[in-house]
Amino acid sequence: MKDDAKTKAQLIEELNTLRAELESLKEEERKLWASEARYRVFVDNIDDGCYEFDLQGNIMFCNDGLPRIFGYSREEFLKLDRWKRHINREYGKYVFRLHDEMYEKNISSKILEYKILRRDAVIRDYEASVSLIRDQAGEVIGYRGIGRDITERKKMEQERERYREFVENVEDICAEYDLTGKCTFCNEAGAGGYGFSMEEIMQLHHHERYPNQEEADKIFNAVHETYVKALPVNIVVANVLCKDGNIKSIEAALSLIRNADGVPIGFRSVGRDVTARKKMEEEREALREQLSQARKMEAIGTLAGGVAHDFNNLLMGIQGYTSLMLLDTDLGHSHYTQLKAIESHVRSGADLTRQLLGYARGGRYEVKPVDLNEIAVSSAGMFGRTKKEIIMEQELAEDLWIVDADRGQMEQVLLNLFVNAWHAMPGGGEIFIRTKNVVLEKSHVRSLDIPPGPYVKLTVKDSGVGMDDITRERLFEPFFTTKEMGMVRGTGLGLASVYGIIKGHKGAINVQSERGKGATFNIYLPASFKDFIRETKPEKAILRGRETILLVDDEKSITDVVGEMIKGLGYRLMTAESGEEAMDVYRANSGRIDLIIMDMIMPGLGGGAAIDAIRAENPAAGIILSSGYSLNGEAQDILSRGGLISFMQKPFELTELSQKIRDILDK
Ligand code: ADP
Ligand code: MG
Repeated sequence: MKDDAKTKAQLIEELNTLRAELESLKEEERKLWASEARYRVFVDNIDDGCYEFDLQGNIMFCNDGLPRIFGYSREEFLKLDRWKRHINREYGKYVFRLHDEMYEKNISSKILEYKILRRDAVIRDYEASVSLIRDQAGEVIGYRGIGRDITERKKMEQERERYREFVENVEDICAEYDLTGKCTFCNEAGAGGYGFSMEEIMQLHHHERYPNQEEADKIFNAVHETYVKALPVNIVVANVLCKDGNIKSIEAALSLIRNADGVPIGFRSVGRDVTARKKMEEEREALREQLSQARKMEAIGTLAGGVAHDFNNLLMGIQGYTSLMLLDTDLGHSHYTQLKAIESHVRSGADLTRQLLGYARGGRYEVKPVDLNEIAVSSAGMFGRTKKEIIMEQELAEDLWIVDADRGQMEQVLLNLFVNAWHAMPGGGEIFIRTKNVVLEKSHVRSLDIPPGPYVKLTVKDSGVGMDDITRERLFEPFFTTKEMGMVRGTGLGLASVYGIIKGHKGAINVQSERGKGATFNIYLPASFKDFIRETKPEKAILRGRETILLVDDEKSITDVVGEMIKGLGYRLMTAESGEEAMDVYRANSGRIDLIIMDMIMPGLGGGAAIDAIRAENPAAGIILSSGYSLNGEAQDILSRGGLISFMQKPFELTELSQKIRDILDK
């Protein structure tokens, strides 16, 4: 009855407490429900697939995302044979193995990547973050995964990789810079191409990339222009410094890099190494210039040669009559010194024409193996003695190779160079002569226009005023001079004849000079490996005789004067004014003519042909070939046919004539 004794009020209170408890329980359950539902909603609505499957690969749980990835509804997917999720059984086994491996090696979580087969039979790339599920005892009972279709991402990655591969492997230089000029990106060609590592190139400052400030400024300006004018592309050629100090010419296309708002944030440059191309272009340009120069020289040479030829014959006349008058004039006679003075003027005149003709035909007078050292020593000695304000220095190679050259012409070459050097050093100075054996290779001779091979190099260098570019380009032209016209000093023929002579010897000459820095002339003559016999100077005596000489020349003035010289020497004279006439005279007097002096250039039957015809009748005929031109190709040709023959250049004086005659007659 005690219970019964509870009051109604007590009962009500208990009831209320219970009710409240129930309410709070309900509230808790509601909350629990709400949060679980949130999880469900969340899990079912994310794009990723969330799932759990057992060690056999049977699905224990999955969200809505997973079937979506495979293209099924949830119901379909849960009923699906597990192999249907894979490309084929083989591949399915491979995917299981990937999971098994985690189990076996106890790897608690891992990113797995594999391919899946969608319902529409399309194969997709798939990636899952997989972890092991353990029971309360810690035993592994399955796998939990969150996975996604990564096909698009992979495609993009591959594309990016392709770009990267492309950029890294092209030979063109790709680089990007920020607005301060700092390199922010470059490909392999942009670093390794210059010998730098990627790190090194990123550290370099803009101005450190170029050989000099000027070049750096040029590029800076080009970049600035691109920026200011917002040019789409700006093509520049830059000389860029390599790590080893070499310089590469790069042709680069510069463009602006803009951010998403269109604001420039840097530069992009795509460049190509054009060093070889530039070099070739320069070489081609030099060759073209050389060719046009050579043509010009040839044309002027022809003109000058024509004038000089006629003038030379006049000199021969003057010389001849002077010689004859001298023959009859005593030393004490008042005309004697005047006649000698005429001879001396003729010699100067002949020097001029010889220079011109030497240049015109590039002729060689008497070619013999010579030692250039010896010629250099004697010429320098002779010159140095008369010019006390000039110091002559020499550096001569021992065992200098021999060259086939005309000694007199080589002396003329050196003398011309010395005189020019002297003119360039009005206050005195130094002339330096060097000889050297050199073997020129293909790359050396391209600009010299001679074949590769062994050469003797002769250098004449002075410490004079030097010259500007225009003078340097033109100085071998005949009549080019910077020395006041009209004065004896400047004829403009010195170097022209040097050039002609060197060309005539199959050699080459070049000059290096800058204003105020002296001038250096280099001469290359082909080395000869013939036996070398030292020359002995002929003595200066007039030799006489009584034999019969046939003189052939188409110019009457020549036959007149030379004829008198021959008679003056005691010989019997016959003359002919053409090759044909010479033949007739020779036949008519068969056996009586001891020597023929034959002009080379005549209308009709020329000297060469006439000589051949005479030789056909008498191979032992003694002949002197005479010409105003020096011993050029044609004369050389005639001489090289052999026989009793020598050469004499007009104008000649009596002594020389008398010696040449005896030379042949006494053989
Ligand atoms: P010329 O001596 O009669 O002027 P050249 O043919 O000898 O004629 O020389 C042509 C020009 O080349 C000279 O007028 C001079 O300007 C220049 N030249 C030649 N040799 C030298 C040198 N050693 N130094 C400076 N200039 C030179
Ligand atoms: Mg000169």
